[in-house]
Amino acid sequence: MKLRFLGGVREVGRSALALTSGDSTLLLDYGVQINREPGFPLHVPPKNLKGILLTHAHLDHSGGIPIYYVGHRIPVYASKLTFDLSRILLKDFLKLSGYYLPYEYADVEAMLSNAQTVNVGETLELEGFTIRFLEAGHIPGSLQFIVEAEGERILYTGDVNTRETKLLNPADLNYGELSAVVVESTYAGEKHPERSELEKLFVERVREVVGRGGTALIPAFSVGRSQEVLCILEAHGFEYPVYMDGLALEANEAMLRYPEHFRDHELLRRALERARWIRGWGERRQAVKRPCAIISPAGMLKGGAAAYYVEKVAKYSQNAIFLVSFQIPGTPGRMLLEERKVLVNGKPKPVKAEVESFHFSSHTDGEGLKSLLKSVKGNPKVFVVHGNPENSEKLASWVSGELGLEAIVPRVGETYPIG
Ligand SMILES: [Zn+2]
Ligand SMILES: [Zn+2]
Repeated sequence: MKLRFLGGVREVGRSALALTSGDSTLLLDYGVQINREPGFPLHVPPKNLKGILLTHAHLDHSGGIPIYYVGHRIPVYASKLTFDLSRILLKDFLKLSGYYLPYEYADVEAMLSNAQTVNVGETLELEGFTIRFLEAGHIPGSLQFIVEAEGERILYTGDVNTRETKLLNPADLNYGELSAVVVESTYAGEKHPERSELEKLFVERVREVVGRGGTALIPAFSVGRSQEVLCILEAHGFEYPVYMDGLALEANEAMLRYPEHFRDHELLRRALERARWIRGWGERRQAVKRPCAIISPAGMLKGGAAAYYVEKVAKYSQNAIFLVSFQIPGTPGRMLLEERKVLVNGKPKPVKAEVESFHFSSHTDGEGLKSLLKSVKGNPKVFVVHGNPENSEKLASWVSGELGLEAIVPRVGETYPIG
């Protein structure tokens, strides 16, 4: 078997690998790098392509897949929820960046009409490959893959979280014996704060702000993080109104359809019932004048309704903006956090509201990645992907130093034989 890295190595974005056995090739994820102009992984000729396997709906894993449906029919495998969420995210991506994309909505529909549903615990036989699907714990619907062929077993973690969250069960680490591991390393160099403490502190702070008559704006990504934040508030008995805005509404409806992907679907259902859904500009303008919490995309304030809210909320000191994800340098969210300024009509304006950051990560940290790798049996080659070069190198040197396994941080275009 051969493993080729097409993208998403020494970087986060455009994740894609190709697995070849004989003259059959599988693609595992095919994402985009989200810059102003989207970047794609290396291309694979569709001739020998027997299937595309998608770990989860995030665009850095899914955003390039429709390219293969401009004139081709290839089965694509993922969970039902992943397909529903992908439709939402790809449609939005086309709306925002369509000009730069080599496909259109009809190709997304063609992709979805070739969708084959798989789920946790299932096994798929496909052209000489046997694929097992495991819980990944990253976002609703996310999976890890173990692909077997020619007597070799390869694990691809995709994006993974080894810790339980309010929304999801942790990743399944029952891998058994493996010949190769492809592991993500987004936060290999970090230690996340203790989750329950972080949740308590967060709810306390939101309560304090809304209790004194302020508005607490919580910019959050619409798929996963928005619902996680809502569930945290609900689980802690948050007594004030909570509004939800943006694509989260469509994502909510999809998530209500598939209880099997959730740790506590009842909590999600209850939280979504209590939340007030914002459906237009009238409601948006009203909500921001009331003491309440508002959960709205985008998580880094790049577009989305949060860009509107932040301008209003920033003006008054009784309000607060609580960031709940990592803020990439160069984003308005990062500027807010570091300089306490927001862009109003393109000009930076100082912020009177409180600004605080709570890092509710959906990726596991360095310790989690180490425990994941320790649970692997056999003597696999370990390929470290999906991280900045420093984080990937750091994890790789731990793997070779502590576990005595061969560890590689591959480069785009490199091919490795397995077995
Ligand atoms: Zn992801
Ligand atoms: Zn990712």
